[in-house]
Amino acid sequence: MTSPGDVARRLARLHERIADAGGDPDAVRVVAVTKGFGPEVVTAALAVGVVDVGESYAQELRAKAEALTSAPREAAPRWHFVGRLQTNKVARLASLVEVWQSVDRVSLVRQVSAHTTSARMLVQVNVSGEPSKGGCPPDEAPALVAEARDRGLEVAGLMAVGRAGASEGARPGFRLLRELADQLGLAERSMGMSRDLEVAVQEGSTMVRVGEALFGPRPSRISRTRAGAGVGSNLGELRRT
Ligand SMILES: *Cc1c(COP(=O)(O)O)cnc(C)c1O
Repeated sequence: MTSPGDVARRLARLHERIADAGGDPDAVRVVAVTKGFGPEVVTAALAVGVVDVGESYAQELRAKAEALTSAPREAAPRWHFVGRLQTNKVARLASLVEVWQSVDRVSLVRQVSAHTTSARMLVQVNVSGEPSKGGCPPDEAPALVAEARDRGLEVAGLMAVGRAGASEGARPGFRLLRELADQLGLAERSMGMSRDLEVAVQEGSTMVRVGEALFGPRPSRISRTRAGAGVGSNLGELRRT
């Protein structure tokens, strides 16, 4: 279980890690990535003052947003979409998502601009060259940024996922993202997750996206399916047990 007290303690530790890496904990924004956890961790994040909340799957984001509307509304999270995005999911997410972090192709720029005028976006760049990762090739980032600006979207910055494996291996990619953002005059550099945030902060991250460092180990996919990802499948649970 993840209690608000646990999250408060882990957030303090996270701020220490950012400071130890030479970052300013007041300046590096923390986006709490809640994928795989239940809606209660969103409430816990809000309770400790983390209002930026990220999700990777469209259905999970919608389910959590719905679960939270019935809860007392102190403050609503500012939803970031951080996962692989399909163009046909944009319409149903547009009323919820405030920051589109994973825009990596022209068709997505068009969809986002067709459904919203106020959202901010980041262009995701594949800085590691790993085919399994989302993001446009680095040399396509300028054209995507230009396309988005032409359509009146606010491009806040760039986003990248660090190379898998030892965190040090992510450094060249993070450095490249920083350079690209500077060249394009973009202020935000969303890079760094629980395992590689020190390297990201050293390379100039302005926004870290963290799940496990705030909420503990992510439940396995199997137990998540059992729990129905929190979308009203108690019946299924009963039948199985
Ligand atoms: C899951 C995820 C994160 C957070 O990962 P943790 O290891 O839990 O910190 C960050 N960014 C993206 C794009 C993710 O999919």
